[in-house]
Amino acid sequence: MKLILATRNAHKTDEMREILAPWEVLSLADIGFEGEITENGATFEENAMIKARAAASAAPGCVAFADDSGISVDALGGAPGIFSARYGGELCKSDRERTELLLRNMRGETNRAAKFVCCIACVLPDGESFTVRGECPGTLAEEYRGEGGFGYDPIFVPEGFERTMGEISPEEKNMISHRARALALFREELARRAERSR
Ligand code: IMP
Repeated sequence: MKLILATRNAHKTDEMREILAPWEVLSLADIGFEGEITENGATFEENAMIKARAAASAAPGCVAFADDSGISVDALGGAPGIFSARYGGELCKSDRERTELLLRNMRGETNRAAKFVCCIACVLPDGESFTVRGECPGTLAEEYRGEGGFGYDPIFVPEGFERTMGEISPEEKNMISHRARALALFREELARRAERSR
């Protein structure tokens, strides 16, 4: 089965390829798609579905899928949420600046509950679609700790840990992460549907 992943991020494609083997995963670059996709949904699910549908129309007959992820902080009403990659707009030019802005916006706040969220949307060759969601609950640290991972990892302490996601190993992260959980659900759902259509 050929799966088209709606991303131009080579790192993400490699990660998904590894987890979804032996299914073949191709990226938008692999299929020569150069169009723009506007992520103007209001939820992680909507944005993932917008990307998956764009890939589905570029590769009819294939299974198309996409993910959308971010961090949601309870005390900020769920922000940055779907805007995680763009948090702080023009003022923040790097992951480090975005994490520092988030820590500043949370200064003095005692409710530090937060979660990472990853939604995967999938469009099947017959037009049917589904979404799955993986979450990783935890708390926001008081300061930046660790150099591992990416994005908000160094300021997020997953439930059951004292270290931040920037301090734990990639293997530990892959056992508990929102992305790993969403991918496990995606694999299961896809296998179930492939079985049903046999
Ligand atoms: P995207 O879904 O790849 O666009 O990711 C959205 C943004 O959410 C990223 O740019 C990161 O800032 C943040 N994010 C998503 N997943 C993670 C993670 O596993 N660790 C840290 N930050 C993440």
